[in-house]
Amino acid sequence: MLEFPQNSRKLMKTGSEMFRKIPFIKPSLPSPEDIAVDLKEIAENNWYTNFGPFERRFSRGIAEYIGQGCLASTMNNATSALMIAIQATLGQGDRTRSVIVPSFTFVAGPEAIVWNGYKPLFVDIDPETWQPDAQQAAELLKRERDNIAGILHCNTFGVGSPYIGSWERLSSEYEIPMIVDSAAGFGSEYLDGNKLGAAGTCEVFSFHATKPFAVGEAGAVTARDHALIKRLDAIQNFGFEGGRASMHLGMNAKLSEVMAAIGVRQLETFDGELMQRRYIAEQYVRALGSMVVFQDNTLNSSLCFLSAAFPNKEQKRSVLAALNEAGVQARDYYNPIITEHPYFAEMAGDLDLSNSVDIAERVVSLPLYTGLSTDDIQYIADVVHDTLDL
Ligand SMILES: *Cc1c(COP(=O)(O)O)cnc(C)c1O
Repeated sequence: MLEFPQNSRKLMKTGSEMFRKIPFIKPSLPSPEDIAVDLKEIAENNWYTNFGPFERRFSRGIAEYIGQGCLASTMNNATSALMIAIQATLGQGDRTRSVIVPSFTFVAGPEAIVWNGYKPLFVDIDPETWQPDAQQAAELLKRERDNIAGILHCNTFGVGSPYIGSWERLSSEYEIPMIVDSAAGFGSEYLDGNKLGAAGTCEVFSFHATKPFAVGEAGAVTARDHALIKRLDAIQNFGFEGGRASMHLGMNAKLSEVMAAIGVRQLETFDGELMQRRYIAEQYVRALGSMVVFQDNTLNSSLCFLSAAFPNKEQKRSVLAALNEAGVQARDYYNPIITEHPYFAEMAGDLDLSNSVDIAERVVSLPLYTGLSTDDIQYIADVVHDTLDL
């Protein structure tokens, strides 16, 4: 529960604003009644997991949604999906070789790299787009190709990177697999209008309750390579392929029927969900656009939340504090950057990561979900205006 300080200037303004409380995340899930219908069917099927009818429908639905000749391997969450995607494309590492990954991302990616026996090799982001810096990676690959086993690209905040083409060229020129962490970006588009999901060797999505496509706990890997999808399906099921003999180092990361059923329902309503999210984002841009900078290609993304960069870190800190005091939950992803997490500090390397540090110090992530009203957005914009004394 949020605490509401009684002395807040903002909260005292009018009675109706006294108790305004805006959470950071509010997933649009199917109604309990609809979920109950599916539960009944699952019980009648007597089939609760292991690629049951709902899971089959969900993975076909994801593939159809992304198009471009992709298939999908659903999993229980995106972190295990990242671990399995690395295992399926790079195999087990011996802790001597590296996987390139941005330092401005969520910890799950670097964690999945270490779990597979590779060292994370952190690269910076581009200061304009906050997307992984392809130029820095190109220099690395030129210098030490033999030490590099793979690339874990990340579409920052689920926004399709304008540089995805450059990264794909690096991946093919140096013959290095590239996994794309698009966890927050199911439904987002690249600049060419294609949906995220078909780039690199494979792409990884999360359907965690905090993502625009919310299931609760679920994830998927998508790829054009159908043999790779088969391998991903095997590794998530103890390495079994066909029968019950282990063909790979496997684990258990299967998606249960209950979660798959929620996913199937979410697919039916997702276009409408995205339209509403983009409409809300446009209102934010109108209300805040003169004070902050947004990521390129934001409005063609699925908008997990809306991240805005303030001109300096002092302003960002004041705005975060003021929003909190006014009952608005906001975040500052990804602060600290990965190399500042205690576990990863010793893996920081010596590359210049100053853009990651700078953006992490200036970004505020604002709530964005269906049901956030025009009034709510105006209220948030007023808090920002008042704080910056504009
Ligand atoms: C949410 C997220 C993840 C983790 O997804 P889970 O489904 O919660 O495991 C990984 N990477 C990024 C970039 C994310 O935003």
